[in-house]
Amino acid sequence: MSKDYLQRLVFEHISARAVVVQLDEVVDEVVSRDSYPPAVAALLGEALLVVALLSSGIKFQGRVSLQLQGHAGLKLLMADCTNDGGLRGIARLDDEAGLPGERDELFESLARDGILTLTLDPSDGGQRWQGIVPLEGASLANAVESYFERSEQLTTRVFLGQEAGKAGALMLQQMPGASDDPDGWNRLEQLASTVKPEELLELEARTLFQRLFHEEQCRLFEAHPLRFDCPCTRERVVNVLVSLGQAELTALAEEQEVVEVKCQFCNEAYHFDAVDVAALGHEGDTADSSDPTIH
Ligand SMILES: [Zn+2]
Repeated sequence: MSKDYLQRLVFEHISARAVVVQLDEVVDEVVSRDSYPPAVAALLGEALLVVALLSSGIKFQGRVSLQLQGHAGLKLLMADCTNDGGLRGIARLDDEAGLPGERDELFESLARDGILTLTLDPSDGGQRWQGIVPLEGASLANAVESYFERSEQLTTRVFLGQEAGKAGALMLQQMPGASDDPDGWNRLEQLASTVKPEELLELEARTLFQRLFHEEQCRLFEAHPLRFDCPCTRERVVNVLVSLGQAELTALAEEQEVVEVKCQFCNEAYHFDAVDVAALGHEGDTADSSDPTIH
């Protein structure tokens, strides 16, 4: 089985579900795309865990995205996950020197005036939905818990663990509807909060669920693989460049011997030399001359 996956479970007599995510290669893939300071890399890893957890609940084709914005050196941190497990993430810094060195301090400084935005973005024609709340709590896990409390009135517990490029998470969430077992949620919450960070990283989801909830009646779903995935292609970048128009393209080519365009989401760099840029200009011409409205 893939080392990057999610697995979920629902409880039979309690309106609640649990999800486990484990990430290994994906965190490396995302973090190695830029030279992030360790605290930023750690927070980015946590954001990837969170969107992977949340992707388990979406019922459309598309992506769920998490953004953290603040003013304390880290301008923007975002991660998203598609319904079929494609993850990507990026952080933008504006003052690396002023950044706190530890993840907890970084989060604390972000939480002073930051905001958390969660976006559900269907690609199948459904309505885009966005929730924005002040970033609060002592950690990203806390912030996500209070997000759900505020905006969905769903009590949620999130546990995130990370070490040496590996990351693991557990989410326990109430579901709408009454439970047959009135004390069930409290019991689940207590069981979940016994989870240790090393268990999130080292135990397989099935084993972890078994260890925590072995006395509960539940239904375990199949594990789903997760992977790094950004939908950018050279072709999409070409379209963006062509849309700039000939004059702008020529100016760019005069400025730089090789024009570099970086995907803002995955940092993939696309290069265009003078010959490429000239060809792009012609593509623009062809597009114009084939436009029936100008004849
Ligand atoms: Zn990309």
